[in-house]
Amino acid sequence: MKEKIRRVLERHWGYKCFLPLQEETICSILKGKDSLTVLPTGGGKSLCFQLPALMEEGIFVVISPLISLMKDQVDALSDMGIAAAYLNSSLSAVEQRAAIEDCRQGNVKLLYMSPERLQNEAAINLLKDIGVSFFVIDEAHCISHWGHDFRADYRALGMIKKIFKAASVHAFTATATKEVQDDIVSQLELSNPMMHIGLVDRPNLTYRVIPRQQIIKQVTEVLERHNNEPGIIYCLRRKDVDSMSIKLKRLGFDNMPYHAGMPDKERHISQNRFMREEVNIIVATVAFGMGIDRSNIRFVVHTGMPKSVEQYQQEIGRAGRDGLPAFCYMFYSGGDYGLWTFFAKKSPECAVLMEKLGVMYNFCAQPQCRHKVLVNYFGQPYDVDMCNACDYCLRELEMVEDPLVVGQNIVSCVESVRQDEYGFGAGYITDVLKGKMLDKIASLRHNELSMFGIMVNETAPFIRYMIEQLLGQDFLRREGEFSTLSVTDKGRQLLDAEAVPVLAKPLVREKKKQIARQRSKRREQDWAGVDQGLFQRLRDKRAELARKKGVPAYIIFGDKALKDMAAKKPLTKDEFANIYGVGEHKLKAYAGVFIEVIKQDLQTGLRIKTLTNDKVMVSSKD
Ligand code: ADP
Repeated sequence: MKEKIRRVLERHWGYKCFLPLQEETICSILKGKDSLTVLPTGGGKSLCFQLPALMEEGIFVVISPLISLMKDQVDALSDMGIAAAYLNSSLSAVEQRAAIEDCRQGNVKLLYMSPERLQNEAAINLLKDIGVSFFVIDEAHCISHWGHDFRADYRALGMIKKIFKAASVHAFTATATKEVQDDIVSQLELSNPMMHIGLVDRPNLTYRVIPRQQIIKQVTEVLERHNNEPGIIYCLRRKDVDSMSIKLKRLGFDNMPYHAGMPDKERHISQNRFMREEVNIIVATVAFGMGIDRSNIRFVVHTGMPKSVEQYQQEIGRAGRDGLPAFCYMFYSGGDYGLWTFFAKKSPECAVLMEKLGVMYNFCAQPQCRHKVLVNYFGQPYDVDMCNACDYCLRELEMVEDPLVVGQNIVSCVESVRQDEYGFGAGYITDVLKGKMLDKIASLRHNELSMFGIMVNETAPFIRYMIEQLLGQDFLRREGEFSTLSVTDKGRQLLDAEAVPVLAKPLVREKKKQIARQRSKRREQDWAGVDQGLFQRLRDKRAELARKKGVPAYIIFGDKALKDMAAKKPLTKDEFANIYGVGEHKLKAYAGVFIEVIKQDLQTGLRIKTLTNDKVMVSSKD
């Protein structure tokens, strides 16, 4: 069987080998055994069910939560010569009838449906008539209260096993803690499922977590670094999306906004322009994202902290799906913690939400290997000493030399200004530590405390950053309407020198320059052997084809394929067949157009060379 599977892989996808756990998942499906597969974004989940669909008789039904993306998924399959269809409320009555007829005629291998469709009797009868024996539940974490993106319609999917007793059910997700995995298995009533749990780590992502100061300046620095590369900028609120988008446009950074408050039509225009590579930057709320398959997103910026690690993992998951290096920047502040606390308190799930928020904040405020924290959070060990792909391991953070003393000064100040139940916020504590003779300080006689002015030589942003980290590491706690600070049990241990915080300093200009030099060196390594000019021209051709066909550009080829072309410069069909991601169908459809771009590029290159040589000759005669 394995030999046959590999042949299908090479023939239709043009890939030489499987990614981790793909083969195992495919075998479970072909054996008709229920399964749960957890693979990180970019792990190649779609192929795990698309490939067996090609090998088995009959239809595979794929339940997917986002109606807006079904068309893209079906288009991508059609572009590979695989018959697929979808049934959802976006189709007209005529289109629906045509799709149903295609299914009945046996012309469809994969049928995409929304979960609510499965509540509909006519749809159930159709599936019974055509004898579906495989169901795929994509984004299966939506079924669990413990996850994020919980969807009530997903909860009802347990009915599949009751109605289609002989069918096997295969659940897929990128983000599931052990709790969520158990919940998926029990909610879907999977029987003795094969569990394929991949490594959650994404080694091609580099993480940086930075306190938010002047956000526009911070974001534009990132955009300058990633000039002409595709990226997503996430904002916490719709109004932040609007203002960020406008400000960036004024500064010359073309971008499109996206949030749920925009009229449907405008939102679709934004999404389509981004997916077809007509614009590189999208500024969005969390509403933009699930199932966004553009595989060449090179950076994701968070202008605020998400409410949980799961949500963060999901959003950064959109970067670098093609396996090439991609970069995640998070600009956070204590204010984000306050904002999410405010919402959590209104929810019946407050305790769970606050716990998740605490872990997220800790991730930001504790300098440590970011890969390790994320991987450990999802219940897996991380035994790499140095990930070489986060601000901590790349030594971009400078550590405070004496964190015990700095921590004790701050915590002790918080303790000594507190009067009965009455505490003070981070701003006031900073003023006392800096020794500012303000009226309020004088009237409360806090200028007489031993802590008054003890950090006079430090800047206010430095002290604020230290407070943030002490909060994130549970030495301090923020409470009440006015975000006043108080000392935790762990904070008392710090005062007794029984616990030591890990504190990073804000970056100074010299260090920033050094980091920039390191980054450009690494970038050169990433592009070694690739003709970057040709890569850009191949990208333009891909965008042109995508526009003509009305499909997202990644459907035609991913960046990895274009990079391979720009390195190997194939000039014949045979050579083109060896390019990464070129299967039988893509070879037929695209070899001619892309080879033409490469030939033109070579000719232009030759002409320029000849011209330069001529010039040299002329000048040498002179
Ligand atoms: P996921 O849904 O898990 O995020 P995708 O299905 O979008 O991942 O796949 C991510 C990328 O990896 C796609 O560009 C896909 O074509 C590619 N891919 C999938 N399987 C393989 C493989 N065996 N070899 C190389 N690339 C693969």
